[in-house]
Amino acid sequence: MLTSIVGINWGDEGKGRMVDLLSSDYDVVCRYQGGNNAGHTVINERGKFILNLLPSGILRENVACVMGPGMVVDIRHLAGEMRRLREAGVKISPENLKISDRAVVTMPYNVAQDCLEEERLADKKFGSTKRGIAPVYADKYLKKAFRIGELKEWDRLKKRVPDIVDWKNLTLQGAYGAEGTSVEEILHYFEQFGLPLSDYITDTGLYLSEAHRQGKKILFEAQLGALRDIDFGIYPYTSSSNTIAAYAPIGAGVPNLKLDRTIGIMKAYSTCVGEGPFTAEYFGEKAHTLREAGGEYGAATGRPRRVGPFDAVASRYGIRMQGADEIALTKLDVLSGFKELEICTAYRLDGKKLTEFPFPDLLDSCEPVFETVQGWNRDISACRKKGDLPKEALAYIARLEEECACKIRYVSVGAERDAFVEM
Ligand code: GDP
Ligand code: MG
Repeated sequence: MLTSIVGINWGDEGKGRMVDLLSSDYDVVCRYQGGNNAGHTVINERGKFILNLLPSGILRENVACVMGPGMVVDIRHLAGEMRRLREAGVKISPENLKISDRAVVTMPYNVAQDCLEEERLADKKFGSTKRGIAPVYADKYLKKAFRIGELKEWDRLKKRVPDIVDWKNLTLQGAYGAEGTSVEEILHYFEQFGLPLSDYITDTGLYLSEAHRQGKKILFEAQLGALRDIDFGIYPYTSSSNTIAAYAPIGAGVPNLKLDRTIGIMKAYSTCVGEGPFTAEYFGEKAHTLREAGGEYGAATGRPRRVGPFDAVASRYGIRMQGADEIALTKLDVLSGFKELEICTAYRLDGKKLTEFPFPDLLDSCEPVFETVQGWNRDISACRKKGDLPKEALAYIARLEEECACKIRYVSVGAERDAFVEM
């Protein structure tokens, strides 16, 4: 069985936490896109973990993890992440971690390019996480990137480096007037952080196909949300890869396989990190109260997240683009104590009411249309059954289901593994 767990909104919906919860039923968990710009927070009996590159299944002993060919891998960052987890007692070996030979290596100069470009843009900056993600995906499509599998072909790899250095310095030195890279720097990076990975590198497509044939259950974990998809998100304020479920089999290395089920992770209110249009955004005191209630600071960057009420227009679109079969609604507990809650049910554009998400360039001119519903004034973080939830919370969930025309199957009421209600 193949399941994908994907974000319905702008990211940070709590995907890591839901993958950690649901992975107990799976044999393999696979990340299929993005890089260490992801920040997936998992809290369980072993402590709090923030995962950037490793699939969230790494915290389960009987789960094998795959980093697919759709990913970009900063090997220095990976070394640090593996070290931190090992120090916390997590076992990582070539048995439970497989890295695709076709995944692309994020280079130190990609990170430099990312920073140089944000500096150049100054007040027009995109709000990049500065992890080199856009430059390394650009290199991939320019066919100038290094792939992880090349690390196992050292002599061949060494021959490619000088040409890439010459080419990259045209940009670093020529365009930005910055310091260039060198053959020594790159070889050192590969030697130090790449060679130790040799035993982990494999054809993950073959591995997953075989696992599937043996009847193993495979879970695909997305990074970010539908609205950050390079093709279907709020371009150019998107990530540089496809975050949608339809890409999961491709980014994992098994385009021959079809998903059986897609679980969309949707937040009970809205958050957005970085720049770009965010129609239902709250400002001032209202924003501050919600941000503090939800602890909305980026897991990867620590940046305060922009916040707003639940946006049904964007979520409906996210559900459609993800092809979500069911929803896990997260962070409902954060809304406890608000007397009234707003839901953005439509946008207004040039005097007209929009209920479908528009071409992103029009978002700047859209105004949110809010509906107000009653809140609940007691803590729900200890609720574990549907019947434990206050009637106003049930009404809120039902209202979202109706707006989104999708079944809400799980509701999470806390960050800990067991803090959820199955509906
Ligand atoms: P991801 O990127 O989608 O994996 O999400 P993040 O980890 O970036 O952000 C979600 C944050 O909310 C993390 O700090 C989680 O620990 C926390 N979280 C997840 N689910 C819940 C929940 O139901 N209630 C509360 N209060 N926090 C949650
Ligand atoms: Mg996150």
